Amino acid sequence: MRSFFRPAVDAMTGYVPGEQPKPGTKIIKLNTNENPYPPSAKAMAILHQIDGEWLRRYPDPYARDFCSAVSQVLDVPTDWIIVGNGSDDVLNMLVRACAEGRERKIVYPTPTYVLYKTLAAMQPAEILEVPYSDNFELPIEALVEAQGAITFIASPNSPSGHLVDTDQLRELASRLNGVLAVDEAYVDFASGSALALVREFENVIVLRTMSKGYSLAGLRLGFGIAQPPLLAGMFKVKDSYNVDALAIHVGTASMLDQDYKKTCAEKVKANRSQLAVDLKQLGFTVRESHGNFVLVTPPTDAETLYLALKERGILVRYFSQPGLSDKLRITVGTDEQNQMLLEALVSLLP
Ligand SMILES: *Cc1c(COP(=O)(O)O)cnc(C)c1O
Repeated sequence: MRSFFRPAVDAMTGYVPGEQPKPGTKIIKLNTNENPYPPSAKAMAILHQIDGEWLRRYPDPYARDFCSAVSQVLDVPTDWIIVGNGSDDVLNMLVRACAEGRERKIVYPTPTYVLYKTLAAMQPAEILEVPYSDNFELPIEALVEAQGAITFIASPNSPSGHLVDTDQLRELASRLNGVLAVDEAYVDFASGSALALVREFENVIVLRTMSKGYSLAGLRLGFGIAQPPLLAGMFKVKDSYNVDALAIHVGTASMLDQDYKKTCAEKVKANRSQLAVDLKQLGFTVRESHGNFVLVTPPTDAETLYLALKERGILVRYFSQPGLSDKLRITVGTDEQNQMLLEALVSLLP
């Protein structure tokens, strides 16, 4: 059959998102790292006050109200912030603006967030993957040697859950000619952040999302923080009205409700510790995690266990990739959800 597509599109595999059952189905969903707690009540209240004018008019192309909220909370200037339709959109802008072909490669340590590869394939830009060692030491020398137009580091990383040391990121930033993009989607559950590097280096961008820490995965809102010259090229390639009016209003209220976000994150962290203890008792190996998930090695075949849990209405993430095929990534749920997971495991394990 003839193809209608660019060769790069013919050659690529599309991103495969985690399974999304319909809301309301009786499924315990521990596969895509959503926050188990509801969004801020202050954010939900906005939805009851929607003004038709917000929808009749185009939204603010720069989401300035949301930028002001971020600026206030993170103490960064408003013009150091770029907002996207989820942080995936910000990643997309960065790739479109910076990467191309063999001369402007995309580099990242693996295993990590799979979207980096998809975005590179569609640009297209050459990819250089540098495997992490078993203990997830950052392979600085190999990353520096690769000299990517963009080097992506997710920290905390998914699916490993490890946090990359800021001093190592500082060294990397200072030795790279291209952009260092630190993807902090899980920062709200972690004990550190590389945000300070944005002030030190003109080539660093830190990416954040409202999807995980703020329980707003369905809203689609994320942002990047960098010095204005790095953002300039990204503003050129972004969709004009990439963030809708509801996302701006709801996201702003949510960002300003830091107390609620912190309370939820503390609960998630407490549940994460308890879940790790309980899983270890069942014979699992559990990696220390700075995210709202744990990467575990079950005492039996991981894929079989994944399928058996699914059969019982419990979704976890299985990756059939080298290095991960004996592991499962389990999102930290509510106490009740974690308990149901543990009960199912007790009955399934030999
Ligand atoms: C969830 C996730 C994102 C995507 O966040 P959205 O804002 O929902 O697009 C980005 N990076 C990593 C590492 C993630 O896990």
